[in-house]
Order: sequence, then structure tokens, then C-alpha cells
Amino acid sequence: MAEIVRWLMTAPDAPLERVVAAVPVPGPGQALVEVAGCGVCHTDLGFYYEGVRTRAPLPLALGHEVSGFVRAAGAGAEHLIGQAVVVPAVLPCGDCEHCLAGRGTVCARQFMPGNDGHGGFASHLLVPARGLCPVPGCSDADQELGQPGLTLRSLSVLADAASTAYQAVVRASLEPGGAVVVVGAGGVGIYAVQLARHFGARVIALDVDPARREQALALGADKALDAAADRRSLRSEVKAFVAGSRGGVRVFECSGHPGGQELAFELLGPAGVLLVVGFTSTKVSIRLSRLMALDAQAIGNWGCLPEHYPTLLELVRSGAVAVAPLCETFPLDDVQQVLEAVRAHRIHGRPVLIP
Ligand SMILES: [Zn+2]
Ligand SMILES: [Zn+2]
Repeated sequence: MAEIVRWLMTAPDAPLERVVAAVPVPGPGQALVEVAGCGVCHTDLGFYYEGVRTRAPLPLALGHEVSGFVRAAGAGAEHLIGQAVVVPAVLPCGDCEHCLAGRGTVCARQFMPGNDGHGGFASHLLVPARGLCPVPGCSDADQELGQPGLTLRSLSVLADAASTAYQAVVRASLEPGGAVVVVGAGGVGIYAVQLARHFGARVIALDVDPARREQALALGADKALDAAADRRSLRSEVKAFVAGSRGGVRVFECSGHPGGQELAFELLGPAGVLLVVGFTSTKVSIRLSRLMALDAQAIGNWGCLPEHYPTLLELVRSGAVAVAPLCETFPLDDVQQVLEAVRAHRIHGRPVLIP
């Protein structure tokens, strides 16, 4: 290997540029990962189309849902050479106040590929070795890993979509027999549905897209409702669903849409917990005092701590959480068309780019 390829964003909405570069040399504690797959996330679209600023200056290769093989490593990380890994979208430093307090996803020295440095819209990328999640027993990117169609390439979506839902579910302290509402059963929400179900909750999914509602039902939701229906009827259907369940309702806002956020807030009940998982820069209008009147809580969730990844990986490999049927693969060289298709809602699965 003498060279690597990156698809660089040079300016918002400007055509991506395919650039051949010298192989980067990992410094101490760094790993050079050969990309097996890189998922395309709503956040990438935010950087590319909506003017959300990346923390590293442009030009930059986007992409933060990466799986691959470690091909070279700096001092202290040599043991990882040859290892198949999932690269967590948020890699905390491990040493600061937040990291030591168990809140590494807000670490100021965190590294997020495709934001703090070049990401996975590339053949290779450099990442901190600390926090990489090994995928044991994987020696080939196309090797099936215990489930039909599940490969290291599709495991790239563990880096963000599935793991963000996992951390949110963990923080929601679900109880078996509890009731869960998932608003937005798309790229992240569909994992919230599956994980909540796995932890013993009863799940109702709300989405505007009938295909997503079907999929949520197929993957464990007890009920699915059209999120575009009138609020009053949605409130009463959800209230009836939640009645008699253990503990307060857990509402996961995964749509990242202003209407979805308002709806999610309205669906909170007594002692309920709202998990804000989706992102929009639009302000919404809510009556904040509902939290007080209901003795409820609202929790934001950014990414997922690296220590959660091995457990999630096991859930996926054992078949408790489906990944492969939710992914659609495309050649990395089609990245431009894929971004446009995602923006135009022409791709329904999670796109995974293959170098
Ligand atoms: Zn993402
Ligand atoms: Zn830190």
C-alpha cells in the first residue's frame, strides 16, 4: 500500500473531491484503519448541506460510522495490527474530568472521525487506538458473522446509529414491563425499538413513513402509529398503551424533527423520561412546566461510550438486534450520488459505503 484515497468536502454543497494521498503514519496511541464500511448519517448531511460546521477545518473527509482492519499502529497500539474493529463515532481521551466521571461522550478532547479529523469516506483513516471495539474471529470484511448477511461492513452502523440508541436505552433505566414510545423509527429509532424490546419493554413506534412502521412491527414493536395523525388522537392512543405498565413512560425522540420533538414532549406522562436522541437546529415550542407537573425528566444523549460497544456487538452477533437487513451497500466512489439520494429520501436503508 503506497497511497490512500479520500473523498474530501471542500465547501458546503460543493462537489466532493477524490484525492489520493500518502499513507498517514500513526503516531503514539494511533491506529491506521483500512475501511471495510462507512455508514452515511444524518449528521454528514448536516455538515454537507446545512452548513453545520465541522470542528476540523475543510477540506475534510466526512464519515463517522466506520468499521475496518487496523493496518498500522503507533507506540502502545501495536497489539491491534491486523485486528477487525468498529470505530466508535466518539472516542473520548480517557483522562479528563468528564472521562474520569464516566461522561466521556462530552470529553473536550474527544475525536470524532469526519469532524475532528478525516473520516471514513476514504480507503483508510487515522484514529486514536483507545476505545476501538475489536470484532473477534473476523479475518475478512465479507465473512458472515453469525447472522445472515452480517459482515464487518454492515457492523459499521454500530459506530453510531445502533450505539447511540444503545446508550440512550441504558440511560433510560428501562424496567421489564415498562412502556416505551419511539418517535421516529428510522436510522437510530429502529435500534431503540429493538433494544427496548430486548430489555423487556413494551414498545410503541411513531413514524410518518408506513414502510418504517411496518419494519418497526416486524422488529419487535407492539404497535405502530402514524406520527402525522392528529396530536389529540395520538396522545390518547399512547396513554391507553402506557396504562398499567411498570414505571413512567420512556419516550425516545429519534426523529430529529421539530414536529417530532414537540410530539415526544407531549407524550410524556407522570414520572416519565424523555430521551432527546435526534438533532435539529430548529427551535420548538413546548410547555417546559410539564416536566415539573409530571415530575418527569428530559435527558440528552450524545453518542455512546466505547465501553458499551462489546455488549452491543454481542447482541448483534447473537441475533437479538438486527443490523444486516437495515443496511444497503454502495461503492464509495458513488458517495456523491448517495448523499443526494439520502437527502431526497430515495434510499430507505442505512447506506454503507464500501471502498
Ligand atoms: Zn451519526
Ligand atoms: Zn476526556
